[in-house]
Amino acid sequence: FARCYETAGITDMDRIQITPGYGLWTAGIGFQAGAERLGAMVIPMGPGNTEKQLTMMQDMKSTVLCSTSSYALLLAEEIEKRGIKGNIHLRKGVIGSERWGDKMRSYIAEKLGIELYDIYGLTEIYGPGIGINCRYNTGMHYWDDYIYVEIVDPVTGKVLPDGEMGEIVITTLVKEGAPLIRYRTHDLSRIIPGECECGRKYPRLGTIMGRTDDMVKIKGVNVFPAQIEEILKEFPELSSEYQIRISHLEGKDTMRIYVETNGTVDFQKLASDVATTVKQRIGFTPLVKVVEIGVLPRSEKKTKRVIDERYD
Ligand SMILES: [Zn+2]
Repeated sequence: FARCYETAGITDMDRIQITPGYGLWTAGIGFQAGAERLGAMVIPMGPGNTEKQLTMMQDMKSTVLCSTSSYALLLAEEIEKRGIKGNIHLRKGVIGSERWGDKMRSYIAEKLGIELYDIYGLTEIYGPGIGINCRYNTGMHYWDDYIYVEIVDPVTGKVLPDGEMGEIVITTLVKEGAPLIRYRTHDLSRIIPGECECGRKYPRLGTIMGRTDDMVKIKGVNVFPAQIEEILKEFPELSSEYQIRISHLEGKDTMRIYVETNGTVDFQKLASDVATTVKQRIGFTPLVKVVEIGVLPRSEKKTKRVIDERYD
């Protein structure tokens, strides 16, 4: 993880506020061990208690925020609401463990005025920090002296060439005690071919597009939530938040998509435009409900955006 911080341009002069959880897993402690190795100062907050987070952030003059994307969004909105941006010294954010869209990313970067870095990692494989994007933001460099990565077809298990989307399979190279050989992560991504402009020789993984078990079947069509997110990104009037609910009504599977916008647009027209685009691209018509910004839930941990009610 120390190497991740270095790749993000974080140094021993930084003050790193860690909001992922501490406990019997690798999240908080992984961020912390890396920061200690780097020699930076750590503010080991753990999750939640936004009030205290913001106080510490101001008093300790934190320069780096480590969090999930949902929590970074919540903090950004709180900082704006309270008008305390002038007291905040953040310059970088290291964001992990959740799939997030470009829209949310640029919203948080703009609101907090910071550069954002995505990290990748799994509890089973050294914890967080086995990869991070560099400042060119063209995928996450992963440490191929620690792990060997393959991308496979999730159905057949066949290894796919670089550039093709599939399931990430990892073999650990230096892990002792519980080494893993060809461990199937269920995370979907691709290896980005070629070399990065930054000159680092570490290969790159693309954005995590979801999990092999995220796929839902609606009216016989296979759908990944990431595909819906792609479409929502094309509507600038929508916020980064959305919620997808899948239910079984009157003998049919239906998908309802809740999206947020501000009061200046025609809700009904927007809803029908989104529904039409989903129909054209993916092949079924969802029910789209437009709500005011701030209505959808924000979370201190990972925001649950897809709710399957068919089996409740
Ligand atoms: Zn690079």
